Amino acid sequence: MRLRIIGSAGSYPASGTPASGYLVDEDDTTVWVDCGPGTFISMPIDPWAVDAIVVSHRHTDHCADLLAAFHAFGYSDRLRTRVPVYAAAGVFDALKGFVDPDDDHPFRSVFDFNEVGDGDAVTVGPIDLSFVLAHHSVPDVATRFVSDGRTLVYTGDTGPGDWDRVATDADLFLCEATYQGEPGTHAYPYHLTAKEAGEIARRRGVARLVMTHLPDHLDPAISVAEAAAMFDGELAVAEPGGSFLV
Ligand SMILES: [Zn+2]
Repeated sequence: MRLRIIGSAGSYPASGTPASGYLVDEDDTTVWVDCGPGTFISMPIDPWAVDAIVVSHRHTDHCADLLAAFHAFGYSDRLRTRVPVYAAAGVFDALKGFVDPDDDHPFRSVFDFNEVGDGDAVTVGPIDLSFVLAHHSVPDVATRFVSDGRTLVYTGDTGPGDWDRVATDADLFLCEATYQGEPGTHAYPYHLTAKEAGEIARRRGVARLVMTHLPDHLDPAISVAEAAAMFDGELAVAEPGGSFLV
């Protein structure tokens, strides 16, 4: 299984760095995970080739480019229909509000929307996906991808909480690390610090930690130093174009 980073900027895209978006692939199967602004046009493959889409939650830095994909799949000269979408509660209704579809609107035929929540599981080609509700201000799923005995876990956006059991024994843990500094000191409690990302990775026996969702205004070197104080395994920061074999 392979993880590729399309975009990793936290909360808003920056020059050269789309917001959250990843590809998870195994053999000929590719899953597009989160559709942040900039990810559709920055995808390293033909977007028409994705087999399924996962959307962690309805905040625009994770789902806005599903609208770009909708217009491309539905109105270009290459019609694509029934693309499976596995999304947290609220994503469909939020996006529907932008296109205002009636029952036979193309939005309902381009995508095959499936709401997922705590304990749900699906299979896409050789990849088994399971979902756990993370701790965010809106419904938000963390996803565990398992294929050929290897495990990748992606947190989506989340604050601390017992959701992190989903990371247990992950070969690669793609964890949001929006904040720097001491845990518990930030006004909005629904994100993690780099220190918390490292602490979860250590506590859950993760082999490799990749931090993501760092806002453009932060120095990644500081996040790495803070996480490394808690976790002595392999550690990296997600950057566009990055690729990791799981
Ligand atoms: Zn976000």
